[in-house]
Amino acid sequence: MKPTLNERSCGAEDCGCDTALGFSEEEVAQAAQIKRFSECLQADAALRTRLSGGKGLSPEQEAWIRKIGIELKLTDVAFLWEHPLEVSAYLMFALKGREGELSEDVMAIVGKYPLLELWGKYTQSRCCLDEFLEKWGQVASEHEKFNAWRKRRVASAKSELGFFGMRIGHPVFAFELNAGCSVGCWFCSFATDKLSGTLDYPAQRDEVMSIVRQCGDIFGKEMAMMSLPYYRTEPHDNPHYIDFLKDFEQETGAVMCTSTAVCHDIEWVKNLLEYYQKREDGQIYYWPRLSILTLDMLRKVYDAFTPMETKDIELLIQVKDHQRPKVTGGRILQEQAGLRGVEDLSQDDRLSAAAAVPQGTIACVSGFDINLVTRTIMIFGPCYTSEKWPYGFRVYGQANYTSEKDFEAVIKDLVERTMFLSPPADHILKFRDDIVFRPTEAGFDLATAHQLHHFKGRSKCGPLGEMIAAGESTYAQILKTLHKEHKVNTFILRAAVQQLFDDGFIDEIYVSVG
Ligand code: SF4
Repeated sequence: MKPTLNERSCGAEDCGCDTALGFSEEEVAQAAQIKRFSECLQADAALRTRLSGGKGLSPEQEAWIRKIGIELKLTDVAFLWEHPLEVSAYLMFALKGREGELSEDVMAIVGKYPLLELWGKYTQSRCCLDEFLEKWGQVASEHEKFNAWRKRRVASAKSELGFFGMRIGHPVFAFELNAGCSVGCWFCSFATDKLSGTLDYPAQRDEVMSIVRQCGDIFGKEMAMMSLPYYRTEPHDNPHYIDFLKDFEQETGAVMCTSTAVCHDIEWVKNLLEYYQKREDGQIYYWPRLSILTLDMLRKVYDAFTPMETKDIELLIQVKDHQRPKVTGGRILQEQAGLRGVEDLSQDDRLSAAAAVPQGTIACVSGFDINLVTRTIMIFGPCYTSEKWPYGFRVYGQANYTSEKDFEAVIKDLVERTMFLSPPADHILKFRDDIVFRPTEAGFDLATAHQLHHFKGRSKCGPLGEMIAAGESTYAQILKTLHKEHKVNTFILRAAVQQLFDDGFIDEIYVSVG
């Protein structure tokens, strides 16, 4: 089944998406308040310490909690601070409707708190966002070379990023309406430069929409629909951002997402909420996502919006002392000694048994970053954050265009230079740079930070793995040597290499991108 990007339900038979409509008004109000309380606890260390220390709320805290619309009794939501781990496990399983697999201890806690069960069910009703992203990864492009390349990026992300790689939606285009970013978040994984320009959208609307149309014509309309309206930029920096969203929707039929870190501009947040939530089609969108950088920012948002007004959107708490670990890329990596700080993700560390399993990257696009201000196109895809790829994505190629008139020729040329159906004969054939090669008696293993891939076939392919791992010979040279010196059947060799290539194990940085 092909996903329709405006579709609310994920279409799964047992999906609870629509059960949200079956909750009573009181239950929805309670769920909205639990969500708000949980956000408060994440953002406010003093509140967290007091409640988990059994001290209850101070008079000021009590006044604030009530002021921001939380009327629930503390004893009814004590699970939030008394059993945070069990609650998080329950919610994770409830999201997938797999509560039955949880231990009796966890379910005993759920049984003790009816509001926890309500929250779990309400969370489950929002499962379609995850399902939706999974479907994006499966949509095929009409462009043969791009389609094969993107399939390899999906396979590679799964191998390289493990669990997190399975949850990436692999959007195809990121349209940047600004150059740089004015916010300067301390955790910025892309270490975005300072804001240096914004798109004059009213003046360039025709050029921009022409480019969007061309992307659809070249790669398929569904590919163009799978776009983000920012990537390494902040939507708020462009005063015509919402106009772009509306025009894009009219052109392609797709409603784009928004994540913003400028939440203290309440007018801006209201305008976004109006775009996403007051729609003629009556569909529910879980946007905008608000990145909450400080407790003050959270207080401003709560002063402006009731729990019911923010019940459908994510408030991603990004305060500095939040317990959720950050991906150690971009600005965090730069802040440490010359990219080699204690948290740098060296290959040895990643493979050591003692290493925790970090997320690896926040990147998600497998396709094109198109900066409409600098008129640059970059081909990129998610990878494990490392010294070599500090922003969590690999860059496969870059080009500049001058206007909508040469855009098509430039992007097509870039694709021809970087995306192949088979490994080019005259390029060095080597494994992806995150992979550790281990020869075995039967063939070889390829180890990543998350997975071990086994390859048998030494009897038929000879030292093929060793030659690729050495990274010194072109594909043509490897074929010739193995055929001449090891009497390996060339047809079998080509099939083996093609399989490794299609499964995303082969390095594809063919163009020097600097
Ligand atoms: S995380 Fe986003 S808003 Fe923050 S500095 Fe980076 S690009 Fe800007």
